[in-house]
Amino acid sequence: MIFKASTRTRPALRRVRTTESLRPLYHRLDPARVEEIPLTAGDGTRLGLTRVDTGSADRPAVLLLHGHTASADMFLQPETRNLVDVLLDAGHEPWLLDWRGSCRLPYNETGRRYTYDDVALYDIPAAVAAVRARIGDRPLFVVAHCIGSLTLSLSLAAGLVPGLAGVVSQGVFLTPKLAGRTSLRMTVAGELLKTRIDHIPVDFAKVGLWSKYTPLFALAARKADCPDPTCQILHNSAWGTGASLFVHENLSAATHARLAELLGPAPLWILPHLRRIELARTVVRWHDTDLRYRSLPPNALDAAGRIDTPVLLLAGSENGLWLDSQKLCHEVLARRQPQLDVRYAEIPGYGHLDTFLGRGAALDVFGHILEFLDERR
Ligand SMILES: [Zn+2]
Repeated sequence: MIFKASTRTRPALRRVRTTESLRPLYHRLDPARVEEIPLTAGDGTRLGLTRVDTGSADRPAVLLLHGHTASADMFLQPETRNLVDVLLDAGHEPWLLDWRGSCRLPYNETGRRYTYDDVALYDIPAAVAAVRARIGDRPLFVVAHCIGSLTLSLSLAAGLVPGLAGVVSQGVFLTPKLAGRTSLRMTVAGELLKTRIDHIPVDFAKVGLWSKYTPLFALAARKADCPDPTCQILHNSAWGTGASLFVHENLSAATHARLAELLGPAPLWILPHLRRIELARTVVRWHDTDLRYRSLPPNALDAAGRIDTPVLLLAGSENGLWLDSQKLCHEVLARRQPQLDVRYAEIPGYGHLDTFLGRGAALDVFGHILEFLDERR
């Protein structure tokens, strides 16, 4: 009886959660050209996949992977010339994945907990398969930012997404080196987890002046040049880690005003996996004993020989979150996997998120991406 009762309730709960719609994309494209495709990951989690229809059937496809707590919106922002604009003009077909860490997904703050293993094992391979089902044998590139790129490195090292035409990785890839490591451990994990906070919010308007989060915002406000609390918690503190997510002057006023929309709350329950990765200085699998994850390598750097595609490592010279991880990755791969086609490009005067969100990113950053894609299309 107990078994029967529990099997009756579970599907109902799941149905409630997954029938909610994704938050609408915010863009200035012709809505008729934006196709949202239902996508479910290998473990049943609902994701978002968007194709921008170009009216042409022979363009190379480029799949864009956002960072954790961001969303596909980071590549479509209407206030600047964004990456999708640039790809369309250069003859590519953009595809955008909202993987399970996207702030557009309705379960972002309330859904099932996960680790980056799930993104590498279930989300990215499902998206690549869905794109391939539509484009056939046309070339498929991936451009990935931050955790989207870190998890992609694990998928690649596992051989789960073979045959890509090329990968552009921004901020971090196989050798994560975090800024503010001490604060990541002490401030966030130590102080906040024990007060039962499981997400760090960024939208001060929603949080209000007095709440359990007030000390966190107060900490981020110290020595801040900008009066906006949402900006302070991202720019000065990166969700309480003590790092910085962008070079402030690189954002337009419109993007600055939309930060709470572009970046959602950061879950604290992901920290144990992030800490393990940080301590290992490489992307390591979280699940050691669960056989469902056995196709992921325990250590992605050790398995990097399985990467079968050219890689462009991009980084802003002022990256205040992942520091010089990309330069390090380039040096390590050149030594350990000299057969791989890996190059490194540093963007002077840029931080982390501003490499995509910056007012001048089309001029300063996207040219590097196009050049790489054009050489291999
Ligand atoms: Zn600001």
